Amino acid sequence: MRILVTGGAGFIGSHLCERLINDGHEVICLDNFFTGRRENVFQLFDNPRFELIRHDVIEPILLEVDQIYNLACPASPIHYQYNPVKTVKTSVMGAINMLGMAKRVRARILQASTSEVYGDPEVHPQPESYWGNVNCNGIRACYDEGKRLAETLMMDYHRQNNVDTRIARIFNTYGTRMVENDGRVVSNFIVQALKGKELTVYGTGEQTRSFCYVDDLVEGLIRLMNTDGVHDPVNLGNPGEFTMKQLAQEIASLCGIEAAIRYEPLPQDDPKQRKPDITRATELLGWEPRIPLREGLQRTIADFARRLNIPK
Ligand code: NAD
Ligand code: UDP
Repeated sequence: MRILVTGGAGFIGSHLCERLINDGHEVICLDNFFTGRRENVFQLFDNPRFELIRHDVIEPILLEVDQIYNLACPASPIHYQYNPVKTVKTSVMGAINMLGMAKRVRARILQASTSEVYGDPEVHPQPESYWGNVNCNGIRACYDEGKRLAETLMMDYHRQNNVDTRIARIFNTYGTRMVENDGRVVSNFIVQALKGKELTVYGTGEQTRSFCYVDDLVEGLIRLMNTDGVHDPVNLGNPGEFTMKQLAQEIASLCGIEAAIRYEPLPQDDPKQRKPDITRATELLGWEPRIPLREGLQRTIADFARRLNIPK
């Protein structure tokens, strides 16, 4: 198949492009390089089935493809809050443009949505049936509401135009190739621990997240895309739940240091807890994550140590 991956030069997108190439597909990677990097897909440049296009999804584009993974959107709070209006445009106009393409060429399209559609959840763990608790005008809204509207567009194009849509609600994902300074908790803690600095825990550190290794997530995305008739959202994440204090301890210990923690203010609207109910993914896709946090962190730490040139 010929497959388009928007945001393909980013963290998850580059792993997805690599996997799709290895599976024998033609891959068009489209990216505006806001948070993505050419280096993430360098290893694919020599492959004749791989093509890289610099393009912004808020502008229309004409391509002939069989499947579209719409991942274009900054995912880290510091990046999506840098230009919040652009974040909304990327989610909404990007979804409209990609859905227009899917409709025109009859491609199947998968939207990368997020656990952030649940906001600061009052139901725990979060099943897909939960409508969420999002502050629609807070500093996270550009991302959360942008993704919620992208989901609305997917469902409406499906109901109105019979577009073959998929919605993946992705929970916190980590792994090799995360950008050192992208501000997410796993990359922050690893860089700090490797450099022997204090680990910055926001708030009390009692808030929880559930972390999925990127290879598991990519497998889930591919299974969802290639399962017929699943138009409603599907959670993809690892149900293992950890407090940020536990995560700091785990990363410090894997880096061989004593955890020194510096407490910093909790950002506005930071969700207190998050854990996916993955019953639907398990039942419909036969999917569940395989890589435990410790093993995924070991791989990620090794990758960071190599890139930062720090012996481990
Ligand atoms: P990332 O920032 O590494 O990747 C996003 C990619 O999209 C980058 O390559 C960036 O340059 C590109 N991009 C941004 N705006 C664009 C635009 N207007 N036009 C074209 N390209 C654009 O983030 P990621 O972690 O790889 O996330 C990928 C997708 O998965 C995003 O849609 C994100 O919302 C979603 N997601 C990620 C996580 C996670 O934990 N990483 C969790 C939930 C959802
Ligand atoms: N966090 C932290 N220290 C950091 C970066 C983040 O304690 O250096 C916290 C953050 O407040 C949140 C959690 O870690 O509670 C996850 O943050 P991240 O930005 O990685 O993801 P998201 O909040 O979008 O789930």
